Amino acid sequence: MTSLDPSYAAALARAAAHAQAFRAGLAERPPRPALSYAQMLQRFAAPLPQAGQPPAQVIEQLAALAEPGLGAMAGGRFFGWVIGGSHPVGVAADWLTSAWGQNVGNHLANPAGAACEAVAAQWLLELLDLPRQASVGFVTGATMANFVGLAAARGEVLRRVGWNADAQGLFGAPPIQVLIGDDAHATVYSGLQFLGLGHERVTRLATNAMGAINLPAFEQALGDAQGPLIVILQAGQINTGAFDDFARLIPLAHARGAWVHVDAAFGLWARACPSRAALAAGIEQADSWATDGHKWLQTPYDCGYAIVRDAQAHERAMSISASYLPTSVGDRDPSHLVPELSRRARGFATWAMISHLGRDGIAAMVEQHCRLAQRMTEHIACERGAVLLNDVVLNQAVLRFGTDAAPDEGDRLTRELIASVQDEGHCFVGGAEWRGRWVMRLSVINAATSEAEAMRSAEAIAAAWRALRDRS
Ligand SMILES: *Cc1c(COP(=O)(O)O)cnc(C)c1O
Repeated sequence: MTSLDPSYAAALARAAAHAQAFRAGLAERPPRPALSYAQMLQRFAAPLPQAGQPPAQVIEQLAALAEPGLGAMAGGRFFGWVIGGSHPVGVAADWLTSAWGQNVGNHLANPAGAACEAVAAQWLLELLDLPRQASVGFVTGATMANFVGLAAARGEVLRRVGWNADAQGLFGAPPIQVLIGDDAHATVYSGLQFLGLGHERVTRLATNAMGAINLPAFEQALGDAQGPLIVILQAGQINTGAFDDFARLIPLAHARGAWVHVDAAFGLWARACPSRAALAAGIEQADSWATDGHKWLQTPYDCGYAIVRDAQAHERAMSISASYLPTSVGDRDPSHLVPELSRRARGFATWAMISHLGRDGIAAMVEQHCRLAQRMTEHIACERGAVLLNDVVLNQAVLRFGTDAAPDEGDRLTRELIASVQDEGHCFVGGAEWRGRWVMRLSVINAATSEAEAMRSAEAIAAAWRALRDRS
């Protein structure tokens, strides 16, 4: 029997040991890293190595250097942004993905990766209850999923008026009009920017207090729209978790001939949870959807899904062909659905997480996170001077502090509270501007968050607020 070079075996074993020790320590590790970027830069700073180091020593050194700059972002008390848990099962699948070292660009070179992706894609469509014939590209996250969906949209709305944007570009093309809600995510604007559609050259639509598009504003804009049209809707506003009214808006947009793209980075997962599915009713009528694996599905990073109803429009926008690249019509070539040619087999981690949690486990997890978001915010908002600003329909909450004070003073108190919660280190929450005022944001979306940890964190925030309020 042949064996792996012992020095490589040692490096892999050391990596596994460090990974296990890190995960074992997550429950105790503060959510915020001990050292800052500047301090970490000093730790890593070194001249370019002239001679190479032995494998295990490199891994030991990396683990030792990085350690104080790692927070417990994958732990149960991190509520700062919409961030999943990099679940150990997904991590294990990702280790194998890397160890196998297979480029999943096409299915002849990597039949295992392409087939696993094809099956995971069907599972996703079933889980999220989207049209079963839709195509699914495995991208790095919702940013690229938005880009891919909008690229398919751009190609198709121009193809319908006789213009081949993929071949001819946009110079001289009939202008495309883009309608987008005023509270859309920043990455959708990035997608528009990458595609030559411009992040300012859009019609922004008025939204309600929760951030969902107002129907009269939508009808007005549709009535005024000229030529090829792309409508961008949202499932899960980044602060409030709000959903656009898909059942009403999508048919109106389609009657006008628009392509409807939905940024549903985390909100699409409401579809996987019977008690929340109604929030996204009608979303299945859209033309493309962007969602993440590395948020609610808990896969490690670099995992999102670009889902397009019209598989041909999807492939037209993304296909890469060259005589040296093998193809066969009708079978899945993963690179034809995403911007990259060479890439890791992202389907393995997705397959592993769905296999591990199952439909029931995913539904229960989403349900639990929504329930905890509600319970945590009820606990905090009953403190004098604290107020909850959104309906906690999903897993997101927006809170403001200093309600008895002048607005500027309320901003100051809210920011100071966020900083003190972060410094104290029990849990991590973030802040944002919402409706012109500073707020605390709470996202409950990590599989590692237990009920006890959630409630202890809520009490830590409440206690920090009482201390700040009684000092001021
Ligand atoms: C997180 C998020 C994105 C961006 O997704 P990435 O996975 O970070 O690329 C886009 N839209 C919404 C609503 C999000 O929550």
